[in-house]
Amino acid sequence: MLLTLPDAARSRNANTDELNYHPVKLVISLRHRFRECGPRVVVAPEPVWSGTRYDFTRDEAYQLGTAALEAVMVIDGQPIPCADSDQTHLPYWWHPDRDHPHWCRKPHEDGDYSSDRDCLSLHGFEKTIYPSLAEAARSEQSDGAVRINTVTELEISLRQRYREYAPRVVIAPEYLTEGGPYELTRDEAEQLGRALREAVLVVDNQPARQDR
Ligand SMILES: [Zn+2]
Repeated sequence: MLLTLPDAARSRNANTDELNYHPVKLVISLRHRFRECGPRVVVAPEPVWSGTRYDFTRDEAYQLGTAALEAVMVIDGQPIPCADSDQTHLPYWWHPDRDHPHWCRKPHEDGDYSSDRDCLSLHGFEKTIYPSLAEAARSEQSDGAVRINTVTELEISLRQRYREYAPRVVIAPEYLTEGGPYELTRDEAEQLGRALREAVLVVDNQPARQDR
């Protein structure tokens, strides 16, 4: 199963903290290795150096696919709970022609610079999954030592920064040293969500094998 995201994912180099803007593909596939009790759903960038590969169990893949599709629904206008009473406060410098995304829960203040404009969904839309099969990510410390980290949490949220005309769906490890984030357009997030759901269907329809 191949998913091509031609304009996709900016990926962040965990070692240098630089963003790579190379067009990459995200390939979603299934893998079942010796002694593993179930298949993995693998989400891997191509070429491999352009980002972080994530392995998921069937349930984790389902959770990520659902979260990606829910992010799309929020972008398309599905309301989210408004926990902040002053959520609608916009600074005086906010250009009246520029819509404020309804999902943003970041407090904006009059004292902010306009270039600080950075809309985040925060607790309004934030999904977390815990990838139990995550490959360890390496990061090099300033003293040259190499640290091995295992991804503990992946967070799915929305972000729209200064001068960006559309939101990104950000799928990022809790700490950037754990690997690179995927930042997807709305359409790319929808493709990813559908592909993961499809992978889960394939897993569920696999005939049980008693000989392992
Ligand atoms: Zn905002």
